[in-house]
Amino acid sequence: MKKEKEDFVNPLDFFDDLDEDMNEKVAIEEEKPQEAAASRERGQRTPANPPGRQPGSKPIGRQKKGHAVFITGTDTGVGKTTVIKVIATLLKEKGLDVGVMKPVQCGGEDAKSLKEFLQITDHLSDINPYLAKDPHSPHVAFKREKIQVHREKILSIFEKMRRRHDVLLVEGAGGLQVPIREDYLVADLVKDMGIDMVIVSRLGLGTINHTLLTIDKARDMGVHVSGVIFSASEKKVPGVPEKTNPATIKFISKTSGLGIIPFLDELTAEAMLKVCKNKIDLKPFLPGNKPSATGQLVADDKNYVWHPFTQMKDWLESDPLVIERGEGSYLMDTEGKKYLDGVSSLWVNIHGHNHPHINAAVKAQLARLEHSTFLGLSNIPAIELAKKLVAVAPKGLEKVFYSDNGSTAVEVAVKMAYQYWQNAGKTEKIKMVHLSNSYHGDTLGTVSIGGIDLFSQVYKNLTFPTIKIDSPDGFRTTDFEKTVTDLEYVLSSSAHEIAALVVEPVVQGAAGMIVWPDGILKRMKDLCEKYEVFLIADEVATGFGRTGKMFACEHDGVTPDFLCLAKGLTGGYLPLAATLTTKKVFDGFLFDYKDQKSFFHGHTYTANPLACAAAVANLELFHKEHTLGKLQPKINFLGERLKMFYNLTRVGQVRQKGFMAGIELVKDKTTNEPYAWDEKIGVRICNEARKRNVILRPLGNVIVLMPPLSISKRELDYLLQVTQWAIRQVTQKVSP
Ligand SMILES: *Cc1c(COP(=O)(O)O)cnc(C)c1O
Repeated sequence: MKKEKEDFVNPLDFFDDLDEDMNEKVAIEEEKPQEAAASRERGQRTPANPPGRQPGSKPIGRQKKGHAVFITGTDTGVGKTTVIKVIATLLKEKGLDVGVMKPVQCGGEDAKSLKEFLQITDHLSDINPYLAKDPHSPHVAFKREKIQVHREKILSIFEKMRRRHDVLLVEGAGGLQVPIREDYLVADLVKDMGIDMVIVSRLGLGTINHTLLTIDKARDMGVHVSGVIFSASEKKVPGVPEKTNPATIKFISKTSGLGIIPFLDELTAEAMLKVCKNKIDLKPFLPGNKPSATGQLVADDKNYVWHPFTQMKDWLESDPLVIERGEGSYLMDTEGKKYLDGVSSLWVNIHGHNHPHINAAVKAQLARLEHSTFLGLSNIPAIELAKKLVAVAPKGLEKVFYSDNGSTAVEVAVKMAYQYWQNAGKTEKIKMVHLSNSYHGDTLGTVSIGGIDLFSQVYKNLTFPTIKIDSPDGFRTTDFEKTVTDLEYVLSSSAHEIAALVVEPVVQGAAGMIVWPDGILKRMKDLCEKYEVFLIADEVATGFGRTGKMFACEHDGVTPDFLCLAKGLTGGYLPLAATLTTKKVFDGFLFDYKDQKSFFHGHTYTANPLACAAAVANLELFHKEHTLGKLQPKINFLGERLKMFYNLTRVGQVRQKGFMAGIELVKDKTTNEPYAWDEKIGVRICNEARKRNVILRPLGNVIVLMPPLSISKRELDYLLQVTQWAIRQVTQKVSP
């Protein structure tokens, strides 16, 4: 389903109290970690960790108030409203404050009748925000009456209503696949509300099919079905279907039946209590019934898991988030708290989380083939993807070799470049040239050509020798000219023993978002050509639109000999990598079998069909959603807003290329003296941002901003505001 690409939640909810804080000179008092942990256990939020609502308002969460259940029918006219009256009556009898909501209603007076029957004081326009007179499908009824249905409005009334009651029963309209608008189904609404669902089914013939389809659809959308209630819509002696259907449905779907509501002669609370009390399983409707699993999950994580690039001693003392859901630019944790994903889940996400188009592509592929080997066999999505990649890649790259991650994409290029010369009889050409602050991955091959000492120093005895060329950080040193001159010197004197130059073109990500001036890459390419050395472009980070163009090489109009892709390749869905190369390189491996000159490399999951299907859908979306076109104004906006960071006393430099940005913190702005590594300035700023529902991950003293390309301007604005606020909070505290 196509959704409006506007904000999933309204980040403006957050702005009012953010603005107050941003004007504050004094830092908010640091919350104590134990208290934070303890209150997370209780499923509450700490005062210093506001979910971004007005002071005094009740946070959403799994506390007493705020429990909500969506009630859908398998079909229209199955008696939902009566069932809701019965459930509400039973809950009220237990002393709970019950609210109801019927977001859209077409014809009839269900909402009014619920309000009166249950004596609810909420305003009718909150119980039923959208009312059409005629009993048509909502998308038709509202269109005919010229009423625009806004999902944001429904969702914000819903949030308000759930905070008002112990239990809020939300009534659907018809079945799950009923369109509220042409681009928005009842099922989308349930998903956006993020609550569990109970299905109301009729008892008689035909119910099995409808109920199972509804359960399937819900599961497909990641909505939890807590159970099925059967409702007898006519007075009739139960026949075979009435007697057997509930058990059949339970057996096939493994979904529990919550009970049967018989036909009620008299619709009064007394009659309902008399007939239904203790006959219906109310567990899904009781608040606090679903205790937060976070405590156990965090304990199990700490017991069993070892996280990458992480000092686990710190981790064991920390209060980690466990992410459960994603939607658009947001991630949701197991406490139901929503975070803006400011680094695209470590630079991978492109079109947003949980994108319907990529979801559908992976699901469709899953229903056909999950995996078959690429060693000796081929598969459909891998072929389709290769063709599409060649079409979008710089001209001249014609062959695609698959692997599983960025490191292997580079490793493949390094081995291919090396072996090409071996195959060609130029056996002295064995060395790799790379830059002093490069990062190409974590396998031993890529660590060898990595320049960031912190990542590679300890493994140096395991790595192979290389030629490393000094490269500026673009901040304290800026002489890119010298890098090119040094390269020319190295190539002119030693090209006979050099296989390839490996670079991250235009933006060196892991080094702290170092941006090259225009023309540098082109000159490197020209030198490589002149001295017959391959150019390997590692676009694992820069590929797929991050720099504003599909590939960073396009900024200089360069076609490298090897193009290494991973991170954004699948839109951030699945691990997959590709190394693209030229026909010349490919042909350099065409020999007779007996010559033993094949490329001896391949991973078991190479060209996994699910991952390739996601990657194909990712590329389709660039086209369908005009991703790069829509990105340009957002890049300009980001650039404008980044200027304000220079007003901060500890910001030494702000670097940006397209949608990749780095903000470098310095201890002293006059001397550009860096913060010491162990001051963990970046980490602390990111932790602060998390309190404002923004996820960031730094590179040392550099705060990285790299949101999904699909982020809305408003969300981007929020990301920038929170980042600035977090930098202030921390840097003002560090050195008052
Ligand atoms: C992330 C990255 C890699 C490594 O990719 P993995 O999938 O983590 O192995 C290689 N090169 C660059 C430029 C990267 O940013």
